[in-house]
Amino acid sequence: DAVVVVVGAGHAGVQVADSLCEGGYHGPVLLLGDEPGLPYQRPPLSKDVLSARDEPGLLPLRGERHFADRGIDYRPDAVVTGIDRARRTVLLASGQEIGYASLVLATGAAPRPLQVEGSERAGVLPLRSLADARALRAALQSARTAVVVGAGFIGLEFAAAARKRGVDVAVFESGDRVLARAVSVGTSLHIMQVHRAMGTTVLVGEGPVRLEGAGGADGAVRAVVGSRGSRHPADLVVVGIGVRPRDDLARGCGLAVDDGVVVDEHLRTTDPAIFAVGDCARFPSPAGPLHRLESVQNATAQARHVARVILGAGTAAYVELPWFWSVQGPVTLQIAGLAVADDESVTSGYPDGGGFSVLRFRGDRLIAVESVNRPADHAAARRVLAGTERPTAAQAAAPGFCLKEHAG
Ligand code: FAD
Repeated sequence: DAVVVVVGAGHAGVQVADSLCEGGYHGPVLLLGDEPGLPYQRPPLSKDVLSARDEPGLLPLRGERHFADRGIDYRPDAVVTGIDRARRTVLLASGQEIGYASLVLATGAAPRPLQVEGSERAGVLPLRSLADARALRAALQSARTAVVVGAGFIGLEFAAAARKRGVDVAVFESGDRVLARAVSVGTSLHIMQVHRAMGTTVLVGEGPVRLEGAGGADGAVRAVVGSRGSRHPADLVVVGIGVRPRDDLARGCGLAVDDGVVVDEHLRTTDPAIFAVGDCARFPSPAGPLHRLESVQNATAQARHVARVILGAGTAAYVELPWFWSVQGPVTLQIAGLAVADDESVTSGYPDGGGFSVLRFRGDRLIAVESVNRPADHAAARRVLAGTERPTAAQAAAPGFCLKEHAG
């Protein structure tokens, strides 16, 4: 029977295997992950796992018997090192070769390393894997001070969790505001104030230039010095400056790669037998430009789509509304749709308490909604943005506006 090999057992890879089984796929499905143990959830790693009192156990994506019960051949510690497209085989670090009829790349992304003086010091840590979260948690047991480099989601979530443990935290952000890539100016300022109210020092417009420490060049980090001369003590430094898609396997076998594995509207690479999904994939959006998204929704929705294509059950292009969430101390932020900095913003609700949403318009068309502690707005936004009837900016700005009333 036609073998499907899935490389990467994260949110996307596991969902591909599951959806193939649910769709009645008869051939063997191999799920190859390079990490030990069972596949696990990533979002809690920068949230509950860091602030919880108990040592984090596994946060499994599926139960222990899940894969065996469905006949999915899940193999942990299986590092794929190469793809031979002519022979349709993947090569493992163990030397084993496995043949495939369809291959799905679900290799995710890796943290971008910090490249300033002193960034190789002990105590300078990324946050991507369960192993990273365990190392950070262990460091937090004794740390009194921490510096976060980069005010993106992971850095800010870490900052909130570390404050909850009583650690003194400073965030260095070289851009001019927090979460600049993801949210409107208003939401960005609100979230910065929330972090400051939690006692975190947030420095915007100031990146680190030097990490100072004890002993030689690889001695433990002790302080971070910023480009404007700020100096903050740090028993620990968390680097949250974004990720690089893990597209090396695709590049190595000659597939098109452009900051991610390039796929078409069916999530197929330039080789029709090979697909890419999740954080590692760069895909076309109906609006035109190619996107690469980093979210659980994107990973699982793309995985379901590819399973349908392999099952021969879907010929429609991949079109899904992106959505995302983040938890930072008292703030739950939810975003539906994709906006860019230039899109207009109309605020609805109460930034000073009780939650609010920022509706983002391109011209007069609603394209995204950011909700802060407004889960009902987020749910309504997802329905509105999936449909064609959308409120105008003038309607959204009128007193008494209620998004739910437009959700049909
Ligand atoms: P991953 O989950 O990264 O899985 C890829 C897997 O492939 C990894 O296990 C990797 O080790 C493995 N792999 C890579 N190369 C190989 C190889 N050559 N051979 C074998 N295996 C390989 N998203 C949200 O929507 N909300 C959140 O609140 C949120 N919080 C997050 C918090 C943290 C700390 C992190 C790191 C991410 C968070 N995300 C969140 C993003 C979300 O977790 C990712 O978008 C999602 O995990 C992407 O799924 P994926 O399967 O594409 O990649």
